[in-house]
Amino acid sequence: MGQIKKQAQISFRQLEQGGATVTVAAGEVLKMAGKTVIIFDFDRTLIDDDSDRWVITNMGLTQLFNQLLPTLPWNTLMDMMLKELQIQGKTVNDIAKCLKGIPLHPDIVAVIKSAHALGCDLKVVSDANMFYIKTILEHYGIYNCFSEITSNPAVVDSGRLRIFPYHNIASSHGCNLCPPNLCKGRVIAKIQASVSENESKRIIYIGDGKNDLCPTLKLDEGDCVMPRMNFPLWNSISKNSELVKAKVYEWGNGEDLGRILLQLLNSTNQS
Ligand SMILES: [Mg+2]
Ligand SMILES: [Zn+2]
Repeated sequence: MGQIKKQAQISFRQLEQGGATVTVAAGEVLKMAGKTVIIFDFDRTLIDDDSDRWVITNMGLTQLFNQLLPTLPWNTLMDMMLKELQIQGKTVNDIAKCLKGIPLHPDIVAVIKSAHALGCDLKVVSDANMFYIKTILEHYGIYNCFSEITSNPAVVDSGRLRIFPYHNIASSHGCNLCPPNLCKGRVIAKIQASVSENESKRIIYIGDGKNDLCPTLKLDEGDCVMPRMNFPLWNSISKNSELVKAKVYEWGNGEDLGRILLQLLNSTNQS
């Protein structure tokens, strides 16, 4: 508890230094932040790069990837890429080492630590996979800040890393906005149902991609969505603004994301 208090104070000082408006006492910030669920997309949001493409590019798979891309669904393609790595004699440890080279913006690390220290409930919902996400978050020391990670399952099978779809592809999830392996809207609906049983909470959803529109449309008036500027989610929101009930806060880079998210955690007008 002492450590949590200390971190909250540090983040508070960071806020003041960052020029954000701080008009409430630290205790009140803690109380408000406790009602906030923050949901991050992973690729091009929490990390600036795309973890699948990072592995393909940095482990010499670009040519095979381009060859197979038109013929296979994404999860199957990634599973094939990992099979190829095993054939080439690359271990799961080699893949982990490659993943640890992915940069993560220090302001995003800082805001995640602050939000966690302030009592927010942090989650990741991503179409990457459990192994990539866990490896990267652990590497940056923020894995334990998250209460839940929802992504495509990954297992190590006789030394080979394998990726499987989150939903059973054989029985369609019935959402035409999302790829067959994962409907993020269904995940958000489950989170909303578990939250409203206790008390009214605010959701902040942060994302960039086409598959972040479905969960965005599930958000309520008191919620916030943070689309990355000039990326597909941002474009979709601009075109369908009448369908989006949540307040929209756009961001461009890790510095923006860190600043705006901290400001939202301090906003007093929650309903
Ligand atoms: Mg993304
Ligand atoms: Zn969907």
